[in-house]
Amino acid sequence: MTTTQPETFTVHRSGSDSTGVAALLPPTGHFIAGSFVPGSSRELIDVVNPATEEIIASVQAGSAADVDAAVAAAVQAQKTWGATTPKERSDVLNLIANIIETNRDAFEALESANTGKPRPVAEDDVTSTVDTFRFMAGACRTLTSMAGGDYATGHTSVILREPAGVVGVITPWNYPLLMAAWKVAPILAAGNSIVLKPSEQTPLSTLKLAELLAGRIPDGILNVVTGQGRTVGQRLSEHPDISLVALTGSVASGQAVAETAARSVKRVHLELGGKAPVLVFADADLPAAAAGVRNAGYWNAGQDCGAACRVLVHESVAEEFTRHLVREVGTLVVGSPDAGDEVEMGPMISRPHFERVKQSLEEAKAAGLTIAIGGSVMQGTGYFLEPTVITDVPAGAPIATHEIFGPVVTVETFSSTDEAVRRANESPYGLSASVWTHDSSLSLRVPKQLDFGTVWVNAHLVLACEVPWGGFKGSGYGRDLSLYALDDYSRTKHVMINHSA
Ligand code: NAD
Repeated sequence: MTTTQPETFTVHRSGSDSTGVAALLPPTGHFIAGSFVPGSSRELIDVVNPATEEIIASVQAGSAADVDAAVAAAVQAQKTWGATTPKERSDVLNLIANIIETNRDAFEALESANTGKPRPVAEDDVTSTVDTFRFMAGACRTLTSMAGGDYATGHTSVILREPAGVVGVITPWNYPLLMAAWKVAPILAAGNSIVLKPSEQTPLSTLKLAELLAGRIPDGILNVVTGQGRTVGQRLSEHPDISLVALTGSVASGQAVAETAARSVKRVHLELGGKAPVLVFADADLPAAAAGVRNAGYWNAGQDCGAACRVLVHESVAEEFTRHLVREVGTLVVGSPDAGDEVEMGPMISRPHFERVKQSLEEAKAAGLTIAIGGSVMQGTGYFLEPTVITDVPAGAPIATHEIFGPVVTVETFSSTDEAVRRANESPYGLSASVWTHDSSLSLRVPKQLDFGTVWVNAHLVLACEVPWGGFKGSGYGRDLSLYALDDYSRTKHVMINHSA
């Protein structure tokens, strides 16, 4: 395969990334029963801007006692909230959407400062967050359950859809506000109350949401406890008054939550990692496929569970496709969020994550794989890595099987459709995949054979609130978005009435 002399990327910087954010910072206590309260421990967690490495805030390292206080508030609030009509809940969700939209500049600025994501990515996050609340506001009014009927002589059955109760929510750092919205909107819409733990690395937009909702939604239906997974997340997973725990995060965290939840036979909803294969067939529009990978492989610096990170391309077009891809990737603009609207890719979220991705790149180089473009750390302040394409990747190479969660796309080749499908399905993950072809038969047959919860054809990473998102295999179970999420956060009850009693 053709190799290109790796190009050098530069980091665009403004030199004043955290300016203005101080005035937007939310209170940093826990949000319980509608108010911010201090934590029971004095321990704090620093929140870092990954583009500048500056500490922008410190939040409470919550304890089991803080979770218990939040759960008590949620139990109390759920009694009233669970008895509201869908219209009443819909009105609250529309109000939340309006409040976020009115304050979108603050959310975008905080999200960019806390994650380093470029402003267009933060704008997209907030737009999608608002749409999620609006969708669930409408969707919860359409829900019906199976019609009642007489299924035993002299008895009438009624099927009720009820809230699950109090739901513990644990969110990741890659899309802090949006991932919270994907949980909060359907969970509230279904009549549950919530105790939410944001990622310890990115709590600011969730706390901002709490600040702006205080006094405007019923107290106690949404509580936020900040802190570490091993303390706050662990207590949410084991608390006897929590009916269900919903986590978006890594496979290891999902396993820990599921193991703990099993002890109290708690329901679990898991959205875990991914390693999305991109199957490029010989007849595909190669420039379009390359442009698709440019967008979906490097969006949010590749820190996306659905990122288009593992290309499997037919051997007859591999060289041409790689040429297009390298040209596309070479045009990516890397920089800090305030360096201008042309910046498309920011830093890794943290020093440890930066080191992990860097280590994977070093291992790939040591294994003799070809770095077609990028492959290096970017000098100076901030956790920036070059957008990278790695070619000549053999089947089973670690860089192509493990989730890297960075701006790294690998290219493997295949010689037959059966081989492409088999190799794609060998992944331990099953979240999303894409197929690039103009052959109508392939575009129907291949998605049916792929073991992934979402399969795009001639697209990648296009989402909509109406359709479900979630994985198979190691990517977890449960569905975000769509009416399926409302099902996941409800329980079904059968009431049978004896006519003669
Ligand atoms: P992470 O698993 O490290 O953390 C996620 C959350 O889980 C954090 O709030 C963390 O504090 C908490 N946590 C960690 N250990 C825990 C434990 N033992 N008990 C309870 N909670 C615990 O993940 P991350 O690094 O924040 O996010 C990146 C991961 O999330 C990637 O694997 C990515 O693929 C996945 N992700 C998946 C989706 C999806 O929709 N499937 C979306 C976004 C991110």
